[in-house]
Amino acid sequence: MSLVNIKLNNTPAATPAPVTGPEYWRSLDQLADTPEFRTWVEREFPDDAAAVLDGNSRRTMLKIMAASFGLAGLAACSRPEYRLAPQARGREDYIPGAPYNYTSAFALGGHAAGIVVQTNEGRPSKIEGNPDHPASLGAATALAQASLLSVYDPDRSKAVLEGGKESSWEKFEAAVKGLSLGDGSGLRFLSGTVVSPTLDSLRTEALKKWPKAKWVEYESIARDNERAGAMLAFGQAVNLHPQFDKAKVILSLDYDFLGADYPTPLATKLFSKNRHVDTEADLEKISRLYVVESQFSLTGANAEHRLRMQGGEVQKFAADLSAALGASPSGGATSGDKRGRFLAALTKDLKAAGKEALVVAGPRQPAIVHALAHQMNQTLGAATVTYTKASSTDRVDSGVDALKTLTGEMTGGQVTALIILGGNPAYTAPADLQFGAALAKIANSIYLGAEDDETAAAAKWHLPEAHYLEVWGDAQSTDGTVAIQQPMIEPIFGGKSAIEVMAVLLDSKDRKGLDLVKNFWTATWPAATKENTWRKTLNDGVIAGTQVAEVKVSVDSKRIQAAPAPAASGIEVGFVPSATTWDGRFANNAWMQEAPDPITKLVWTNVALISPAMGREKGWKDGDMVALTRGNMKLEAAVMVQPGHADNAVTIALGYGRPRAGSVGTNVGYNAGLIRTSDSFWFGQGFAIAATGGKEILASTQEHGSMEEPQMVASIKPRYRPLVRETTVEEYKKNPKAIEEQSEVPELDSVYPQLKWEGLQWGMAIDLGACTGCNACVVACQAENNVPSVGKDQVLRGREMHWIRMDRYYVGSVDDPRAVEQPIPCMQCENAPCENVCPVQATTHSPEGLNDMAYNRCVGTRYCSNNCPYKVRHFNFLDWHKNFLERRRIEPELMQMVYNPDVTVRMRGIMEKCTYCVQRIQEARIATKTDNRREFTGEGVVTACQQTCPADAISFGNINDPNSKVAKLKKQERNYAMLAELDVRPRTTYLGRLRNPNPELEAS
Ligand code: SF4
Repeated sequence: MSLVNIKLNNTPAATPAPVTGPEYWRSLDQLADTPEFRTWVEREFPDDAAAVLDGNSRRTMLKIMAASFGLAGLAACSRPEYRLAPQARGREDYIPGAPYNYTSAFALGGHAAGIVVQTNEGRPSKIEGNPDHPASLGAATALAQASLLSVYDPDRSKAVLEGGKESSWEKFEAAVKGLSLGDGSGLRFLSGTVVSPTLDSLRTEALKKWPKAKWVEYESIARDNERAGAMLAFGQAVNLHPQFDKAKVILSLDYDFLGADYPTPLATKLFSKNRHVDTEADLEKISRLYVVESQFSLTGANAEHRLRMQGGEVQKFAADLSAALGASPSGGATSGDKRGRFLAALTKDLKAAGKEALVVAGPRQPAIVHALAHQMNQTLGAATVTYTKASSTDRVDSGVDALKTLTGEMTGGQVTALIILGGNPAYTAPADLQFGAALAKIANSIYLGAEDDETAAAAKWHLPEAHYLEVWGDAQSTDGTVAIQQPMIEPIFGGKSAIEVMAVLLDSKDRKGLDLVKNFWTATWPAATKENTWRKTLNDGVIAGTQVAEVKVSVDSKRIQAAPAPAASGIEVGFVPSATTWDGRFANNAWMQEAPDPITKLVWTNVALISPAMGREKGWKDGDMVALTRGNMKLEAAVMVQPGHADNAVTIALGYGRPRAGSVGTNVGYNAGLIRTSDSFWFGQGFAIAATGGKEILASTQEHGSMEEPQMVASIKPRYRPLVRETTVEEYKKNPKAIEEQSEVPELDSVYPQLKWEGLQWGMAIDLGACTGCNACVVACQAENNVPSVGKDQVLRGREMHWIRMDRYYVGSVDDPRAVEQPIPCMQCENAPCENVCPVQATTHSPEGLNDMAYNRCVGTRYCSNNCPYKVRHFNFLDWHKNFLERRRIEPELMQMVYNPDVTVRMRGIMEKCTYCVQRIQEARIATKTDNRREFTGEGVVTACQQTCPADAISFGNINDPNSKVAKLKKQERNYAMLAELDVRPRTTYLGRLRNPNPELEAS
């Protein structure tokens, strides 16, 4: 078969082909064809939008406008201070107005990845992945992208507080000098997972100076079970490196490695490598992913086969599988039900894959499940996972048990001084520990934190923590690679980093971050090359030679004596990291609050997710309020029926419902921490759930932008439109037209003469087989193009502004569907229906095939939006920027700092949409001229969404250049134009997703 059977210029097939394939659905409302769903299909905005808003909507809207841009400024916010020296003389290589890029590092949850930060006139304005860093390989996650906005968050702490009153760094230093810490018996340190070698060295120094002191590491979302599992299996601390690109058959045991469980882009990078199909041989490389889980995760959405079960049942499943593979002696017999069939087929498949098999376990699962995964990999002879020695943790107590011990010491009066370096434990600690109350009892408590948050309220001293883009530091990835964290700007609100505070406590000679980091690293470098090596390190973003060597480890089966898993009984409540606010540290970040959850598509809240069966049994619908109780703990939250969720289980994301999170994030969503205890840290049973009778309006974007056929005549059911398309590898091999034939395209002739699109012509191809739906492109586009957030109330009106949206479709039964994600930017149609109806020609075509918008011509009739079949145009109903400045009395300087200066900031009454990052095209064109190159070929232009995509799912370029990647992809037979039957000839086309299901399970 051929993959390059060219469909000339994407013109529709001459002969209509029958519609084939399964039908996909967006939501339960679509399945039921409710009037609400029809409203979203047939109208741009619902008629009754105003009615669904509560009385506070206008106040809330104004608050969110403040959140939209830089979240900038409260009335009390002072003008930012700059201490960078002005340039009295010009520098030879400095071009005023040109952006400059610097390497740095972004760390989260014990992982670190290299980034490249673009600065404009000394202010950071965009984050990308560092291609030279092994944990990012040029990509960045949505959270890394959004961390930029937090630099300009006016709710960040601005002053040293003592007992809640303004103090100063000088007074703090004097107070520290007055502390009598002796041998450190009453001294405790509490931090997140330390990934900074410089901080680690200061920790060593501190524990030497105060030998009886203790250092506890605690993360609300941590890798503790992974570490404990490695200790159990191998008897030593090792880091695990799954090589997803080398695996043919992958089993995830409750591990959302394509989503919130893996905070760097690496897993997606590796996994998606095998999902790109450029040649026939690539068809053989497509891996097969099995997922066993409770919540419907992003990884589950990308799975060929998914088995839903309570989180507590996964251990039994792993033990049964291990026995079936011959890795361990015990295990239950397989049955003929779905679980039994799944287990049998999976066992066969893993055995057949042998060294190309891979079993991974997620952070929620206990150590024994991780150990069983190691054991299975060893039995299978899997060459898909490598190990490196973990950095020594023997000086450190870590995890929830260590925090429990610390809290006990605090309440027992054994702690006289507690130094907390970030992390907000008063919010993130398990509810049963009552950490905040214990903290309030400590005479000398010092909290370094970015916000005046829950922990700051209980600590004696609160020190403002600088943003990581404001200070020097370093970060080590799990493979040992160290990246230097360079500051892009002086601390805007005068904060300090953890290493600077440690230097104060230790009364070190070096007090400045640069000195601490540079002296730590260069101390052992040869003097002659020291400076050059340092400069090269800053340029590359990684310290050469820091990656540690692989170690060979062997599972000691005798150590893996699995205690019988507790039998599942009653309702289980599971806790998961939020894809948007993580553990709550992004709660005050409007970009993340408004980034729709990849599966639920909810914004500005979390919910208690339940299965459709539970919804039916209890009679609950989305937004119904329930109370989850256990003992004296109680949480009231809205429920949402999640297709594919495990029965008798509830999943709730962490990171919401914070009582002190700033003007954007305070009391948004529900605080799962109220019912999270140290013995049910990730999931637990024995919860009671009952309706309270209340109702909450949930803002979900899942039906916005619905492109289904409108109902023109009441008696005629609209035809199904195959918007998202996929087929199996086997089917594709047999019939390469399997994707194309899913749509019926009549022969179309235009009454207008057709343009000849010659020369440089821009186009985009999005590979649905590679895209995982991670949302990174959505946030990257928002950062690049100055796209505002609008707030929950405005989202309810359908007014969200994202230039690229993620549509999520289900297929299959309500109880157990599969899911597919589809990014939707502007399609840049050649026969653009928006242009025909614009009365003032504000939207017109460029000679290079771009559907341009002239903002200063737009009069806001919105005809173009009404005529866009893809619903990708967005109207500025409100003047987010001007209202924001006037009503919140914001300092314009601070607000403007987050903007990309190359992109116009749109005002009220203007239509906007994706431009294919035209500013980047223009920048490359200008560079061609200034370099005295004759012809601008379009080579090297990369859109923001394309640049950040960890799956490399987006290709962009000159479609008339036969050697360009995008042109080659568009020639593939699985390339299709969405809604081709409308003859709008979109320049953005899709490559149908190819799945590789196990025929045994697909047939059953
Ligand atoms: S296209 Fe967007 S959602 Fe899909 S993998 Fe790439 S960045 Fe993530």
